[in-house]
Amino acid sequence: MRKLLCVLLTLISVSVMAQKECGTTAYLHQVGATFAMSTPMLEEVTSTQQPTGISSQTIIYIPVVVHVVYNDAQTNISDAQIFSQIDALNKNFNRENEDFQKVPAVFAKVAAGANIRFVLAKVDPSGRATSGITRTKTSRLMWSNDDKIKNPADGGVAPWDAKSYLNIWVCNTVPGLLGYSSAPGGDPKKDGVVIKSSLFGVTGNGSFGLGRTAVHEVGHWLNLKHLWGDAACGSDEVDDTPQQKTFNQGAPSFPLINGGCSANNPFGDMFMNFMDFTNDAAMMMFTQGQVSRMRNLFGNGGVRQSILTSKALGEPWNITPASSTPETTTAIPVASLRLYPNPVIDKLTITVSGEGTAQGTPFAIFAADGRLMQTGKMAGPAQTLSLSGWNRGLYFVRMGNERSPQVMRFMKQ
Ligand SMILES: [Zn+2]
Repeated sequence: MRKLLCVLLTLISVSVMAQKECGTTAYLHQVGATFAMSTPMLEEVTSTQQPTGISSQTIIYIPVVVHVVYNDAQTNISDAQIFSQIDALNKNFNRENEDFQKVPAVFAKVAAGANIRFVLAKVDPSGRATSGITRTKTSRLMWSNDDKIKNPADGGVAPWDAKSYLNIWVCNTVPGLLGYSSAPGGDPKKDGVVIKSSLFGVTGNGSFGLGRTAVHEVGHWLNLKHLWGDAACGSDEVDDTPQQKTFNQGAPSFPLINGGCSANNPFGDMFMNFMDFTNDAAMMMFTQGQVSRMRNLFGNGGVRQSILTSKALGEPWNITPASSTPETTTAIPVASLRLYPNPVIDKLTITVSGEGTAQGTPFAIFAADGRLMQTGKMAGPAQTLSLSGWNRGLYFVRMGNERSPQVMRFMKQ
């Protein structure tokens, strides 16, 4: 029985870990970048911890564009949810979060606001007025950390000029992936932050719910590393964050002496720092050293200095109407799925067009409650099915393999 309990506890802890882990480290390994490697010059500038030409009094305004890439109503998050995330970024980066008072006194001494403000863009890259929000419907159900979300050819959305905007993609990420960020100085076509839609903002339906997944990831975007430097007792290149053995999770109590290098530090780990893996409700501060490291990106020669001269928060200069509608639809380029008539009474025709051959493409039809109704393979570019005897209601057709399906819904009358 004890053995079984132990196995169960291990399973539970693994699933909790998967819940809170940030995908940035794995992502950077994948694209061959790290914070230290991405620009050697950057490390030189930041390692001094001295501002390089930008006063700590100067407010840094960062224009933000939020790309909502959705498949259904739930992932097409509301403007209100987006506004609540921008508000959470501003509060947490500027020590205006209500729970800051919970930081233990010994750590509050080194805490700091970054004097960085996030504002939804008012002007898009072509000079037209914008809400700072783009919405794109896609047939892809989930996104991993492979950057397809940033590529229209893969059903994603290209970033706006990274020199002038912080790009944030909000989408349904694969289970276990809460979000990830690029490192400063990387490929501008992949620059930005990806966040799971259910964890974006404070009005969403996520389990953490304080918008701090985005605070953590934007911290990476601003060159912050995890506190443990992604190695046993590694370094985050910041002097005033105590060295810690590894990440912490859940909601620890202070002081947390976690063994190893943490034992050298009388107050233990700074688990309430945004760059740990603790629950949203347990993290509430950045340090002065972290703030210097972030702000140094905007100093002379800094990798993100160009943000300071972005025109994204000024007046629109282009009043000609855009050639395409603001809401665009992209599909996975394997084939394009069509159902008609919709609503349908009896005979439903499915057509598939686009690249590749439709013949042999597997499809499945599900009821709204998830029941599998029918499977088959396309005999050609079009196929007609009889639905006589089916209950009225909403159904879904999934076309293609399970890894990259297209899904469409239809109503049976
Ligand atoms: Zn992280």
